[in-house]
Amino acid sequence: MAAAITVLGGGITGLSTAWYLAQRLPSTVAVRLIEGTSHLGGWMRTDKRQANGMQFIAERGPRTLRSGSSREASAVLELVDDLNLQSQVVTASKFSAAARNRYIYYNGELNCMPSGLGSLVTGLPPAVKCLPRGIWQDLTKAKNTPTDASDESIHEFISRRFGKDVDDNLASAVMHGIYAADTKTLSARALLYPFWLADRTGKHGVIRGLRRVAKLSRARNARFAVREAEEQLAVSRRRSANPEFWDAMDEASMYSFRDGIQTLSDGLAVRLRSYSNVELVTGQPATEARIGPTDCAEIVLADGRVVRSQHVVNTLPLHCIRKLFEKSSSNALLDETPYASVAVANVVYGKKDITPVDGFGYLVPRASAASSKALGTVFDSCTLPAQDGGAELSRLTVMLGGARFNELFGSPASASKKALEDAAVETLRSHLGLRSTPIDVDVSIGEQCIPSYTVGYIDRLKAMHRWVHGQLGGRMSVVGAAYGGPAVPQCIIHARDLVHHHLRLDALDKPQNVTGLEEIISGFD
Ligand SMILES: Cc1cc2nc3c(=O)[nH]c(=O)nc-3n(C[C@H](O)[C@H](O)[C@H](O)COP(=O)(O)OP(=O)(O)OC[C@H]3O[C@@H](n4cnc5c(N)ncnc54)[C@H](O)[C@@H]3O)c2cc1C
Repeated sequence: MAAAITVLGGGITGLSTAWYLAQRLPSTVAVRLIEGTSHLGGWMRTDKRQANGMQFIAERGPRTLRSGSSREASAVLELVDDLNLQSQVVTASKFSAAARNRYIYYNGELNCMPSGLGSLVTGLPPAVKCLPRGIWQDLTKAKNTPTDASDESIHEFISRRFGKDVDDNLASAVMHGIYAADTKTLSARALLYPFWLADRTGKHGVIRGLRRVAKLSRARNARFAVREAEEQLAVSRRRSANPEFWDAMDEASMYSFRDGIQTLSDGLAVRLRSYSNVELVTGQPATEARIGPTDCAEIVLADGRVVRSQHVVNTLPLHCIRKLFEKSSSNALLDETPYASVAVANVVYGKKDITPVDGFGYLVPRASAASSKALGTVFDSCTLPAQDGGAELSRLTVMLGGARFNELFGSPASASKKALEDAAVETLRSHLGLRSTPIDVDVSIGEQCIPSYTVGYIDRLKAMHRWVHGQLGGRMSVVGAAYGGPAVPQCIIHARDLVHHHLRLDALDKPQNVTGLEEIISGFD
């Protein structure tokens, strides 16, 4: 059999995996990406809409990418550079209102989150007043770490050390913004690991333990020093070649593209198609994964075709992976990981600068859940005005649902779009006082779109590592939003690390025995 690798899933993780493979493999090795729908990009999707003679974009999933010098942020910028998309990038500067002002909807008002010590002088808004109290509580309260459990919910952890209000007013809002999930179910060990470790291993609470944890993590990261030095060198070479782009990105807090974030996945798809050894198969869901007679991995497609390869990189959401391995033993991560469903309501008003305050937007904490059906609202036009091209409009996005989707709107599969549109407009009326009629309201429902890293996640991840090892004779790895974090840059760095550092691409004839989870798991040891 000719040498080949299969990538399952054409979301941003699958596309970037195929990209890194295409860059590293000789043209004699085929790379086949299998996407079940006709759309490449997964949740990364930008629609073009029009109203009142104006055209504008509507993001269905992710809308901004974080800039900065972290490994994952640099990896995305390098990708943008490779794909020659620099001229299409639009940024929010570090000094913009969007970078500085993030709000919490609390007690019927927008409370600006502190952005530095200056906030202590100007006074803390009501939602944040619990924070200094919480810090004092942690510094003075005796150790109270539970000895009988290897994990606890973020709500339990924060309430125990900093007081319930810190979770009810602040942490629950932040987690609504990232995971669209409730902190009463999310894992403190997985999502607040340095804090969780400081509490477990220290004698005097979380804050005092953090210095020691930072020291430990520096020591642990020392084994990646060579890799990081090489990566920094690669970035500095790019800087010399294109200083204008990299300097501009140094000034940026976040960014997207003039025509929306799908520019990135489209750019990847276009460039991948130019490789003679890459095939992007769309509209063909994989239905079964099995080991073939010659020990190769076989993926059966809906039309009955069988795709054979020496290795499979599986980027599908966990519930989709489960369906491919129905005959296989059960696995807790596959079977027990809930995914949050989110309705994304794009609301457009025919007037500029319509919000009462400037900023990125606001999040709704648990403390305000009784008076809100929304998880939060993004002020898209305020964040990236260049995407509006000077048009007389304001775009806002209301995120609805999450953990309370069924309770508020019924099943995501059959929820009424009209009810969701009305809820979005009513949210903006009551939270921001926007009484004028929008020129466009459009809702899309992301059913099971964000994996929830719930209590016990790390133990389940370790079990998943063992499970993946046992599938397809060691010829499968997994990458994506359910493992190293759901943000786009986290998905991309996971894909790049797998291809650049873990797979042995010159020895594809042998089982790789690389699950893709090794490095993530070692970060929790
Ligand atoms: C509403 C929302 C807002 C977000 N906002 C941001 C943000 O602002 N910034 C940020 O960084 N991140 C954000 N995220 C997170 C980020 O967008 C996602 O985690 C990321 O896009 C996931 O990419 P993926 O490729 O791993 O998965 P997916 O996008 O889910 O792709 C998986 C692909 O697999 C395909 N598939 C499924 N089953 C099969 C099968 N049997 N055979 C073949 N193909 C199959 C699917 O059709 C899909 O295309 C947001 C996510 C959502 C949902």
